[in-house]
Amino acid sequence: MRFSAKRSVGLLVILLTVVSLTLTAVLPAVQAATPSAPAKNVILLIGDGMGYGHMTLGRIVKGGALTMDSFTYNGTVSTYPNDPVEKWVTDSAAAATAIATGVKTYNAAISVDVNKQPVKTILETAQEKGKATGLVTTTRITHATPAAFAAHNADRDAENEIAVDMLNHKVNVLFGGGKRHFLPKDLGGKREDGKNLIEEAKKMGYKFIETKEDLQKVSGDKVLGLFKSSHLSYEIDRDPAKEPSLAEMTKKAIELLSKDKDGFFLMVEGGRIDHASHGHDTATVAKDVLAFDEAVKVALDYAKNRKDTLVIVTADHETGGLSIGGYGEYNFNPAAFKGQKNSFEDVIAAKLTADNYKDIFAEYVGINDLTLDERITLLSAFKVKETNPYAAANAAADIVSRRAYAGWTSGGHTGNDVPVMAYGPYAEEFAKHLDNTDLNKLMYKAYGFQK
Ligand SMILES: [Zn+2]
Repeated sequence: MRFSAKRSVGLLVILLTVVSLTLTAVLPAVQAATPSAPAKNVILLIGDGMGYGHMTLGRIVKGGALTMDSFTYNGTVSTYPNDPVEKWVTDSAAAATAIATGVKTYNAAISVDVNKQPVKTILETAQEKGKATGLVTTTRITHATPAAFAAHNADRDAENEIAVDMLNHKVNVLFGGGKRHFLPKDLGGKREDGKNLIEEAKKMGYKFIETKEDLQKVSGDKVLGLFKSSHLSYEIDRDPAKEPSLAEMTKKAIELLSKDKDGFFLMVEGGRIDHASHGHDTATVAKDVLAFDEAVKVALDYAKNRKDTLVIVTADHETGGLSIGGYGEYNFNPAAFKGQKNSFEDVIAAKLTADNYKDIFAEYVGINDLTLDERITLLSAFKVKETNPYAAANAAADIVSRRAYAGWTSGGHTGNDVPVMAYGPYAEEFAKHLDNTDLNKLMYKAYGFQK
């Protein structure tokens, strides 16, 4: 027995040696996949209002996998704010503040806490560490999501003040809409203080651009690109000869920011997914989700050639409660909006009248068999056009959504979880359920910044 026990111990030693040798051979490969080196660059892409239903819609309309489907590390994010009344459903301001600062706050707050005190943002910290910074969006650049990274304000609607604050932050790249908040009233803007912030920006060393052609040619370490007076066009309405896409702006922003040897922070927002979802305009939502996905591809292609860039894709909240299948039907029919040429809100609704609506529906929506119920719905919406300019757009969009079995439970936001995907250093830390404030903490961790 003694001999046999000794032999067992001997075998065990051999076995352990083999196991440890095998582990030594395998471990370096495992460690290489989870680098401890901090991220030099972070590209954060936010699909405003983009929930899981929106991604499924995009995939169906595309007819194949999205770039967003290709991430290995996926998680879910809760989005509720710290608001005394709206406890479970955030707006874009409180959500962007949570992501930018790690602090939950009340709806409408732009990177201030519940006591209206400014809280430092990831963009500000990145600047302190010498990194270049950029904000790219399809909304006005002064709108809630981009504003929360480079401004502090108790009220998201104070966009004239926010424009001044954002310029004073000296963000290297600012691309989006919202020229009206940079120009005085006599130049067609909304500013009541008479200031021309575009001229002031030039004095600060910014290059100012306003067309797609300008964007292609521009270089320099400070660029202000304001491509429209208010929001940029919905993707379904965009004139690709004149107005840059979100992907094109993202590509140029990366090109400009990556010249900084200390690295960069870039936030890219697909801002109008939310707007089209408020209006239940399913075709317009689908096109904006796909345009956002193209921007994700640009960021991912950049990161895949290197090991130092963390790409995070997420949403600030879900909008509309969009479901694939609705109205009790076990079905979804994208053919119902296949012929839609423009958005209801910005283009089609303006053309609709009680006299021409059948022709407009045939030409712009591809529907020439409106039912009696649908016609009654439209005609009653036209009657309230004076008091509710969105009535016709919403009624028309709901007719199409119903035909497509695209379900909508709300005209506002929902408290549903939203997706998060990540690639690059520390990406595996995003593969679980997170709170929106965790996204901020993980960006600090990935950069190696102390809070
Ligand atoms: Zn919204």
